Amino acid sequence: MFDTLTQRMTRIVKTLRGEARLTEANTQQMLREVRLALLEADVALPVVRALTARIKEKALGAEVLDSLTPGQALVGVVQRELTAIMGGDDASQTAELQLAVKAPAIILMAGLQGAGKTTTAGKLAKFLREQQKKKVLTVSCDIYRPAAMAQLKTVTEQAQTDYFPAQAEQSVLEIAQAALNWAQRHYHDVLIVDTAGRLGIDTAMMQEIAALHAALNPAETLFVVDAMLGQDAVNTAQAFNTTLPLTGIILTKLDGDARGGAALSVRHVTGLPIKFVGVGEKLDGLETFHPDRMARRILGMGDLFALVEQAQHKVDLQAAQQLAHKVKQGNFTLDDFKAQLAQMKNMGGLSSLLDKLPAQFQAANNPQKMNQAEGQVRRMEGMINAMTPLERRKPELLKASRKRRVATGAGVQVQELNRMLAQYDQMRTMMKKLKGGNLASMMRSVKG
Ligand code: GDP
Repeated sequence: MFDTLTQRMTRIVKTLRGEARLTEANTQQMLREVRLALLEADVALPVVRALTARIKEKALGAEVLDSLTPGQALVGVVQRELTAIMGGDDASQTAELQLAVKAPAIILMAGLQGAGKTTTAGKLAKFLREQQKKKVLTVSCDIYRPAAMAQLKTVTEQAQTDYFPAQAEQSVLEIAQAALNWAQRHYHDVLIVDTAGRLGIDTAMMQEIAALHAALNPAETLFVVDAMLGQDAVNTAQAFNTTLPLTGIILTKLDGDARGGAALSVRHVTGLPIKFVGVGEKLDGLETFHPDRMARRILGMGDLFALVEQAQHKVDLQAAQQLAHKVKQGNFTLDDFKAQLAQMKNMGGLSSLLDKLPAQFQAANNPQKMNQAEGQVRRMEGMINAMTPLERRKPELLKASRKRRVATGAGVQVQELNRMLAQYDQMRTMMKKLKGGNLASMMRSVKG
């Protein structure tokens, strides 16, 4: 996420931190670099101007000039201003959905075709069910594309919430009304209404969604937009906002957005809070948006909160306890090793984890290396899968001929299999020492 922007900003932060003295010249130089980084990230011009003006004003202020570590103080300024431009850290403005007391609260999804509306409707349904214990109903008002209705049905089933089927001959308003009645009768807390998108802004579409809005009086009207469109994303958000009283924005496909322009601009230009960001095609690829945390990520300072949240929601605690028990007993098998690899994948894979670590820890902050590492994990799983259950418990049973078979089965060279077995062996030895409580000897073996 935002790789190019983060790389540039991290460099600026690093240089600044090293400055013992701030002069007019090095402050100007820093501002120029920030400006360039923002322009290159496709940040909207008014936002670039506002941001650099604010940083400049603060850079020349007492807070920075009187500081014993002016470089550090200036980094703080940049961080705070980035946070502010994305909506500040006022929680009421950001993460939380304002779901009315009156049930069902309606969430109306708006956006162009392909923005990720339907996928995001599924993600939201899952999020609300799992994390807010809501009973959710979804309905599609896309009467023009039967495939879109089928898609919503599929994601709703994946989210394990309820889906309201429409009749082919009904109008958009009739469908919405019928779904609302159903939700009321069946005590749903939330009704998510997916709508038809078009390839571009289109009067008929705007009228239809405005009529839906008037009839439903939704608690939230969320504009779903593809972050990879950069400034175009911001312009369409602005256009929708003039016709429809939007309450927030969901930026999708941030996982593929190297630049970050939409994330940095959309709040300042539209005045609307970013409520969520989409970070993957799967239903768990949704994160609540926190401006302060996003600013830290952009500056290469990492987002450890997100990492902890990810761990809390995605790690199977029971499995972790079972593993701890096995380690205590001293029988950590290749199956357990594989389970560890699976846990890591569950948390969104290596790249999603590294994304949230401060830049100095991102030794492999390089997509090519990441792909290599992820490929390696996949191959490790393949090798373990190719073994018999007995071999997984006692890999020492693997003789040369079996090793060749296993390697061929997993599509790797025997050397790679040997390397994996050596790694496992190291881990097992380490865990045995841990079991004995001999931390000092473990540290020695790690170093050695
Ligand atoms: P709609 O036409 O607005 O309903 O868009 P869809 O929900 O059909 O999504 C369009 C495409 O974008 C699909 O292939 C989705 O899998 C993909 N997509 C949606 N959200 C994300 C996201 O956050 N990250 C990635 N990588 N892909 C996404």
